[in-house]
Amino acid sequence: MVRAEQVHKSFGSIEVLKGIDLEVRAGEVCCLLGPSGSGKSTFLRCINHLEKINAGRIWVDGDLIGYRERGGKLHEMREKEVAAQRQAIGMVFQRFNLFPHKTALENVTEAPLLVRKEKRAEVRDRAVALLERVGLGDKLSNYPSQLSGGQQQRVAIARALAMQPKLMLFDEPTSALDPELVGEVLDVMKDLARDGMTMIVVTHEIGFAREVGDSLVFMDGGVVVEQGNPREVIANPQHDRTKTFLAKVL
Ligand code: ATP
Ligand code: MG
Repeated sequence: MVRAEQVHKSFGSIEVLKGIDLEVRAGEVCCLLGPSGSGKSTFLRCINHLEKINAGRIWVDGDLIGYRERGGKLHEMREKEVAAQRQAIGMVFQRFNLFPHKTALENVTEAPLLVRKEKRAEVRDRAVALLERVGLGDKLSNYPSQLSGGQQQRVAIARALAMQPKLMLFDEPTSALDPELVGEVLDVMKDLARDGMTMIVVTHEIGFAREVGDSLVFMDGGVVVEQGNPREVIANPQHDRTKTFLAKVL
């Protein structure tokens, strides 16, 4: 479902991604771990072309992201085409980024109505079902300010799902939450994983990685240091940098 080959990304003279290779099969959950500044968020942003890569290639469901290949050469796509690709990729951030002046329901219906111009009644039914699925069937008319952090994050997940993505990217979705609210968001993500959603999750929740992850990728300094079965990597890390990192978060 996702394939990255030798992805390089620099900001000015600083190389942040130094040749990332990664493969995530359909229906798998890939957990991405690594110290602050190792390039995790940048890599996620490259997958939906919020950042342009300097070298390498990324495919999502067989589509080369951001470029067309003609005669062995890469040509940048127009913004409209990139936007179409992005619709297939849901993203959830650390900060929930809900529209503050829209209700939970309006937050979820916004993109399908505006971007996809789908029929209002269908969009509404789907949004209600999604909000019920994330346990917020009784909060449809609440504004973000009337919801807890965990509830807001669940609305954000429902909003991403409303576009019926093939892939979901999560960037530390629980790290801004009070500890007692983390579980309810992780439960929604577990439910999604069980349902077969392909997911890449940046997280320091080792329990989640161990329980739900099909693969664990440990990044440091813009490279993949180690990857494998989460249970094996966590129990028996091979590299010193992985050991040091895990010792801190476990
Ligand atoms: P954290 O765990 O703190 O979220 P991260 O692994 O997600 O860290 P990134 O946010 O990807 O790390 O950042 C990697 C490096 O790239 C950092 O050194 C950061 O300062 C730099 N960087 C990220 N975005 C930009 C930008 N837009 N312009 C310049 N430098 C950037
Ligand atoms: Mg980050």
